[in-house]
Formats: sequence, C-alpha cells, structure tokens
Amino acid sequence: MHRPALSVVVPCYNEEATLPLLHARVSAAARAAVGDDHEIVLVNDGSRDGSWAAMQALSAADRRVVAINLSRNHGHQLALTAGLDLCSGQQILVIDADLQDPPELLADMRAAMAREGADVVYAVRRKRDGETWFKKATAALFYRVLDRVTDTPIPLDTGDFRLMTRRALDALLALPEQARFIRGMVAWVGFRQIPFAYDRAERHAGETNYPLGKMVRLALDAVTGFSTAPLRWASHLSVVLAACSLLLLFYIAWGYFSGERVQGWTSTMLVVVVLSSIQMFVLGMIGEYLGRLYIEAKRRPLYLVADIAGQVHGRATLGF
Ligand code: UDP
Ligand code: MG
Repeated sequence: MHRPALSVVVPCYNEEATLPLLHARVSAAARAAVGDDHEIVLVNDGSRDGSWAAMQALSAADRRVVAINLSRNHGHQLALTAGLDLCSGQQILVIDADLQDPPELLADMRAAMAREGADVVYAVRRKRDGETWFKKATAALFYRVLDRVTDTPIPLDTGDFRLMTRRALDALLALPEQARFIRGMVAWVGFRQIPFAYDRAERHAGETNYPLGKMVRLALDAVTGFSTAPLRWASHLSVVLAACSLLLLFYIAWGYFSGERVQGWTSTMLVVVVLSSIQMFVLGMIGEYLGRLYIEAKRRPLYLVADIAGQVHGRATLGF
C-alpha cells in the first residue's frame, strides 16, 4: 500500500461556501510541504447544504481529494474519527473546514516536528478573532476546569488543529470509546508532544456549528472521559455536609437548653432545598457516567459511511 507523505483531514458540516477556498489553500500548503505526495480527506458530516456535491466536484477535479459522505450528522469528533480511520498518510494534519486554523502553518509545524523529533505538534490558540466574548470566556473556563479535574494533562486552549505522525495516529485509533474527546485522547496517547502557538482567525463563512448545547456535551464527554473525580466529589461533599449538620445540631441543642424556641420554617426550608439540589446534582453526575457506560456497552459503530469519492487507502474500522 502506498502511504502518501501527508494526509490532511477535514471534518465538514455545512461548509459549502468555504470548500473551494479551503481546497485551494490546503492544497497549496500541502504542495509546498511535500509536493504531490499528499491526500486531502474531506468528511461530509451530514451537511444540509451543498457540501457533498462541492466535495465530489473537488474530488473529480483533483485526484488527491478523497471525499467521504457519512450516513448522517454524527458530530464533529466522530466525523474527524472517520477521516482519521480512512486516511493513509505518514503525517496527518487535522484542520477545521472553516479556515479558522490557517493551513499555511503546516510548513512551520512540520519544521517544529522535525527539529524536536516530536510525534504530535498541537496548535495552541494565542488569540481568537471574531468569536463572541461568551465563546471565548466559556472556552477559557472549560480548558481550565478540565485541567483541574482530569488525570491526563490536556493542553490548555488547544483544539483539534494538530500535526501527528502515523504512530501517534495509530495509537489514537486503537482507543475504542464512543464518547470521543479527541484532543484529550491524543494527549493520553503520549509520545513526544510539543505546542505551537498561533492566532486563531475568524470563520471564513457561515456560523459556528458549536452552539452552547454541543459545547456542554463536548465538555461533559471531556470530563467523564478523562476523570472519575466528579464521582468522588460526592463523598467529599458528604464530609462537609456532615460537619455542617454537627454544627446545626449544637445550635439546636443550645437553643433547647437555653429555653429558646427553635425557630422554624425558613431555615428548615433552606436546608431542604439546598440538600435536595445537591443530591440531584450528584445523582445527575452519576447519571452522566451511567449513560455513557450504557452507550459504550452497546458497542455500536462510531459512524456509518454512505459514499466515498476518490481513492481511499485507509480502512474504516467500523461501519463500512
Ligand atoms: N463540524 C462537523 N460536524 C458537526 C459540527 C461541526 O464536522 O456536527 C465541523 C465544522 O465543519 C468545522 C469543525 O467541525 O470544520 C469545527 O466546527 P465549528 O467551526 O463550527 O466550531 P468552532 O470553531 O466554532 O468551535
Ligand atoms: Mg470554527
């Protein structure tokens, strides 16, 4: 099997407007880096616009383009997994379709990889243009909370934009989980990984496909996938609550013996409300883990491929 020197893997959801420019910029960058010996793997994640037709056209015009059509929208992380399964390059660049991550950085990332003998060069966002303060603030908070709770050190402010060697990718693809937080999984794999600072550009066209709901889901996948600390919080919390109840007990006893009437309704309600919300919170957390366990136990394919345009050398581990 021929392994091209470089595979560029791009998950796409409703990116019709960006695809021609994406192809032009990615293929110019790839050509500058490795000449013709590359492939561009575009994954259509059930787009509702003309992305798939645009990809087929690109693949017909450029034989280095492989277009993969998933059976429906499987979500960013699974679309990316499909592309990574099916690519065959010796080095793999993962990049977003919206050109927020400049493909031109490939040259510098490859140079850094060669210089440091690294297996992964991950791009760290120094600045994020054109994103709302809400997105930036929640993203910054997310990466910091994640860093506190996880056992695997996951780099801060790092998305999926990265360059990997084949051995790092093969290690990544050996991880079978359904709930995939790929940037964390890459960190878990180990080998030598180095940061590469860059300024994140504005989206070329269209709008973010990561509204709040999807961000929360990704965050929960990240936390539950890399840490069981939240399950332990319940026992820590119980110690704190036990201490509080002891204090309360002393207070009530003092009230009783000093002949004061125990004051009633407000404080009782407060305790009931606070405790029940804590209980619900802990129950919900257990539910998050349990639900994921259930989904993992079903062992469904991660994604399903409907069509492929162009020459594929890699293999879909599942579902094709
Ligand atoms: N994406 C995808 N499937 C989805 C949502 C997004 O393949 O269900 C792709 C999207 O086309 C883009 C990348 O994932 O290439 C990142 O999405 P987006 O730019 O919307 O996220 P943001 O940069 O706003 O976090
Ligand atoms: Mg984006």
